Amino acid sequence: MFNTDLVYPFWKTKPEQVWEMLHSLKKGQVHTLCTSAGGHEIPYVTYGEKQDYKGTANYNSACGARNPKYYAHREGTRPTLMIVGATHAQELEGVAGLMNLFSLLETGRDLRGIEVPSLVKAYEECGCRLVIVPIYNMDGRVRCEPDSMLEEPPESLRYHGQGTWKDGTLCGWPDCKTVHPLKDAVDFLGAYYNDDGVNLMHDDQFCPMAEETRAILKLAKDEAPECIIGLHGGSNSTNMLLQPDYVPDYIHKGVYLLAEAVASLQTENGLKSHVVPERTKLEAFPPPSFNLTTAFHHVCGAISSTYESNEGLADKNQFTAEEILIHHYCLFEAMFKRPWRGLVPFFCE
Ligand SMILES: [Zn+2]
Repeated sequence: MFNTDLVYPFWKTKPEQVWEMLHSLKKGQVHTLCTSAGGHEIPYVTYGEKQDYKGTANYNSACGARNPKYYAHREGTRPTLMIVGATHAQELEGVAGLMNLFSLLETGRDLRGIEVPSLVKAYEECGCRLVIVPIYNMDGRVRCEPDSMLEEPPESLRYHGQGTWKDGTLCGWPDCKTVHPLKDAVDFLGAYYNDDGVNLMHDDQFCPMAEETRAILKLAKDEAPECIIGLHGGSNSTNMLLQPDYVPDYIHKGVYLLAEAVASLQTENGLKSHVVPERTKLEAFPPPSFNLTTAFHHVCGAISSTYESNEGLADKNQFTAEEILIHHYCLFEAMFKRPWRGLVPFFCE
């Protein structure tokens, strides 16, 4: 394990580095989401004015009234977009990406000192309200020793992410989800979890165990973003947007349109791409989980997806730190271009 930011100065994911960045922001405004189970403050950042969508009902009731506009009436308003980093706190690629995005939005240069004009232009043309939670699972991040999974063997990802059972063996997917909260079943609690052993991706969305879940769903409800992307790491997969479950077909279409826009930027930048096909049916048993990505959609109607980044593990299909960064730029730029525009009358024009 090496200290990533000594090798790659643009890779800053330690909580103190994130706080240092947040304290330096001039354009972005820093707010508190909530206090974590372990007593850590979880910040979020906003750019642009909060939009008043003049809702008279919550999203569910507005859908019941057969028009989501009763929740968010967007005529004459600007779009709101939301990005959530480090729900699983050993998956730090997105945090590195967001720290460089902050730098670009504040100074026009990223933490490598390089300008990324197409990304900044897309942001400016979008004119959006941007809501960013850089480290959602702050407990896990404080506990997670490595600053990245770059050059780590796959077992290290399992250890730092999922931890070890009482007998010392490594927890692993999918067994790590068979006990929840996991805290009392493990010897070493991985960075998947908050300090109570809750995997924030798989909390009870309707009756949350974690204050973090309650707070982030309220943030989504209050901000009414039309797109929410959760930044995750997916071993050495090629960076991609997953299709969410339990959402209407036009949301699948929206995620697909975004994924296509990301892929075209990836190709332009000489990077690999992978577009997950549109999903429309939920027929198989066992059913997929109703996870945080799905819950986001159901509190605000957003196009919601999980972004799985390559983690640069010492394994097949290993991407470099810089490639991982550029992949995130492709995602952010594609979001700012809002390729789902016009898909349904609910979103901004
Ligand atoms: Zn994850």
